[in-house]
Amino acid sequence: MNYDAIAIGAGLSGCSAAIQLAKLGYRVLLLEQAHYPIHKLCGEFLSVEVIAAFEKLGILDQVRKVGAQPIHRAYLTAANGASFRSNLPSTALGLSRYQLDLMLFQRAQSLNVDCFDSTKVLGVTGDLSTGFKVNTTKGEFTGRVVLGAFGKRSPLDRTLDREFIQKRSPWIAYKGHFTGVDIGDVIELHSFPNGYCGLSQIETGEINVCWIAHERVNKEDLDPSLGIPSSLAKNPVLADRFANMQRVSPSLQGLSQITFALKGNFHNDICMIGDTAGMITPLCGDGMAMALRSAEIAVPFVSQFLDQKIDGNIFKKQYAIAWKQEFQTRLQLGRMMHHCFVQPTLANVGVNICEKLPALGNWIIGATRGSAEPIPDDYKQQLQSVG
Ligand SMILES: Cc1cc2nc3c(=O)[nH]c(=O)nc-3n(C[C@H](O)[C@H](O)[C@H](O)COP(=O)(O)OP(=O)(O)OC[C@H]3O[C@@H](n4cnc5c(N)ncnc54)[C@H](O)[C@@H]3O)c2cc1C
Repeated sequence: MNYDAIAIGAGLSGCSAAIQLAKLGYRVLLLEQAHYPIHKLCGEFLSVEVIAAFEKLGILDQVRKVGAQPIHRAYLTAANGASFRSNLPSTALGLSRYQLDLMLFQRAQSLNVDCFDSTKVLGVTGDLSTGFKVNTTKGEFTGRVVLGAFGKRSPLDRTLDREFIQKRSPWIAYKGHFTGVDIGDVIELHSFPNGYCGLSQIETGEINVCWIAHERVNKEDLDPSLGIPSSLAKNPVLADRFANMQRVSPSLQGLSQITFALKGNFHNDICMIGDTAGMITPLCGDGMAMALRSAEIAVPFVSQFLDQKIDGNIFKKQYAIAWKQEFQTRLQLGRMMHHCFVQPTLANVGVNICEKLPALGNWIIGATRGSAEPIPDDYKQQLQSVG
């Protein structure tokens, strides 16, 4: 079959694009290397913008049913004990990727998207004028548009010879689910030397513990039962949390060489969305909202191209402009905050300033996320009553 669009990767951006294009009546193929459902490396904190996006995609009811944890407050600390507490501009959610990615994948299936998991894309040839051939572990598929939604780092980046992959990045991240402490409706972010760690509650009541650190932290001794490097416990709040926690995940998930570089909106005429185009630092907790939003930005251009209302060059130019307008400043601010928060002295000064000037702290939280559309009234009430 010749598809109108083929999305590579069934994370947030790939599923969202596939769902929107299927709703517009296009023949869509969604390819995912993993076998769903699966746990993914992520802080699992969903910024408020996602609620309107979930409603448009048709999964909000399911998100409610599984009991996504409402998150109303933020708590930031530095290793020397400085701390800043704030109310979030609006309610955020804690929801595991195990649930969320499956919901989106099944929603795409229900709209007649051809959805293949356990199918790894090995290579892509072709271009926007002649069409594409996508080579996978399950055979070859053809399509008029290919959407690259394969996340922060994939072997496919190397196959495609993308520039960013040539550069080494020292950042390594880990994630696991834990029990033993109750942090309720708070997203916690704790800085430690050369890294930071987020804690937030998900729908099961378990705590997602996710940290990103310079690779030198990875060489340290690990806590024997939790598997956590000793640097994290240099932050007294984290040390206290870990003293009471037990790990639920059989092992921690890790990923090395995480980069926050801009990667380009097109490569070999493949339209890049989500982290494949560029990732915001995890400190901002907005990567998933941005992945969904980037699909919303790309789809109208894809649709106009498929309907032959614009040619390939206009498609590429206009998507790149729209993407930069929406994300470039946020990504830069995120990178700056990341570099401050991993250095103990700067983290300490930064958190102290936010403590003294809460309006500045609140402005930074707001500036690293998109504008939120209204939440349906009944869900708003439900979220406010749980907390
Ligand atoms: C440590 C850390 C913590 C984070 N915490 C948060 C947080 O709390 N909140 C937040 O909003 N964001 C967070 N993020 C960012 C967030 O995880 C990403 O921005 C988001 O997942 C991007 O979605 P995506 O669709 O672009 O990519 P993904 O969700 O990563 O999806 C990409 C998909 O492509 C598939 N794939 C890859 N290669 C191939 C191939 N060759 N063939 C087929 N399929 C392929 C992968 O298996 C994957 O399913 C965090 C990131 C990190 C590194």
